[in-house]
Amino acid sequence: MVVDFDPDDPPLEPPDGTEPVVWRMAQAIRAAHQPDSTACCVTCRVNVPWPCPPSRLAARGFLLAIRLRRTSRR
Ligand SMILES: [Zn+2]
Repeated sequence: MVVDFDPDDPPLEPPDGTEPVVWRMAQAIRAAHQPDSTACCVTCRVNVPWPCPPSRLAARGFLLAIRLRRTSRR
């Protein structure tokens, strides 16, 4: 099963086929780490260019949520 989602705008609710807890954690991190008007992260210190390390971690979290559920169904 393939879960399609827009990495720039992932759905708030975990899609079918994903691990919901990991998905929601990734969403929470993503929501807190957004670019400001100067292309720096609003949560990390000034001069940390976006995407900051936590926002990149969130992006990987969505992929992990997909992989975990697939793995657990085997
Ligand atoms: Zn950040």
